[in-house]
Parts: sequence; C-alpha cells; structure tokens
Amino acid sequence: MNAIFLGPPGTGKGTQAERISVELGIAHISTGEMFRQLANEGNPVGVEAKEKYWGKGNLVPDDLTIKLVKERLAKEDCKKGFILDGFPRTIPQAEALDKITKISKVIDIESSEEIIIKRLSNRRQCSKCKKIYGIDVPPKKEGICDICQGKLIQRDDDREEVIRDRLKVYEKQTKPLIKYYKEKLITVDGEQPIDKIKQDIIKAISLK
Ligand code: AMP
Repeated sequence: MNAIFLGPPGTGKGTQAERISVELGIAHISTGEMFRQLANEGNPVGVEAKEKYWGKGNLVPDDLTIKLVKERLAKEDCKKGFILDGFPRTIPQAEALDKITKISKVIDIESSEEIIIKRLSNRRQCSKCKKIYGIDVPPKKEGICDICQGKLIQRDDDREEVIRDRLKVYEKQTKPLIKYYKEKLITVDGEQPIDKIKQDIIKAISLK
C-alpha cells in the first residue's frame, strides 16, 4: 500500500496518516514534520527553509523537498508500504514521485475553509512526542500532552495570518494535483467525526 493523503491543511491528514500507518504497519512520511525536525535540530538547511519558506506559509522549493523524500523512501521501513502526508504538493513533485515509485491510492480529505481555519487556529502539538491535539482531540489537561506530559505548543505557521496564506498556496499549487491523480483519487468528507473519517479512508484504501 503506497498511498498519498491530499487535501488542504487542517483537514486532519496528519492525524489520520499517523493512526492508519500504525494500524497497517506501514511508514508515515510527513514532509512538514521532516522540515520542522530539521529546523529544531538546528540543521542549516532546515533553519533556512523555516526562515525563508514554511514559517511564512510558502512552499519549500521542489528540488530540496524531492531530495528529502527520495532519501526517505529508500529506507527499509518503506518497503512494506507508506503513507505520504503533505507530499506531493506541486505538479513537479508529483512527476518526480512517479519516477521514484508507484502510488496505489490517493485519498483527498476535504473540508470547508471555515472549518479549516477553526481547526488550525486551535491546533496544538506536543513539543516532545509531536502528538497533535485540537478541537476534535483535546488533551485531558490543558497545555499538557496526555502521553508524555510534554508542553503543547502552537506551530509557527498555525497563526491566522499565515493560515490564510497557506490556503492560498494550496489553491494555486496543490489543488491541480486532484486532476493529476484523477484515476487514483478517492474523496473523503473531512468534516465528519474523526473515527468516521478513518473508517472511510480505510474503506477507500482497501478497494481494489
Ligand atoms: P504540513 O505539516 O504538511 O502542513 O507542512 C508544513 C509546511 O512545510 C508547509 O506549509 C510547507 O511550507 C512545508 N512543506 C511541507 N510539505 C511540503 C512539500 N511537499 N513541498 C513544499 N513545502 C512543503
């Protein structure tokens, strides 16, 4: 199972990719998480990518993103399958991916702009274990991770002014992928309760 989870930011792609990859025993590859980790580690390329691109709501250049994904897909844990969460985000990335591997399913998780803005501005992430919380999945104790007791923080690019730019970037650069993948695409309603979204995705990826 080599799947792509498409859809605007804030539709729950990351949460679903995390749960479903664990359930299916396949790798979860989030390019956004890879960029955040590189910046946190103080990697010069990662810090520059944050300052120039993702911290401002812009996409990181294709060549750098494709190189990272190519290296990641060559790792052992991807042999059984993977879910790509947040990649590809442009047509050149999709074309490059076609040269690297074969994709079996593309799941497009859709929500209205109003719900996306509400979700993203309420989203928090554990600074230690990276678990995501939000209106649908609140922590038991405010500001504290249920699992590791780490401090919950807001992502730099989840501030409202940056969210609007990210949505514009999605419309312009990522939405054309829906047409690109039309033969493999299955659309799932991302405004349902998260367990129902998960069921719909599992059903979609099990279809022959
Ligand atoms: P995400 O966690 O998927 O919302 O990604 C956070 C940010 O990382 C995005 O807003 C982009 O700036 C950057 N990013 C993640 N994936 C890609 C990609 N495939 N191409 C370019 N930039 C990306």
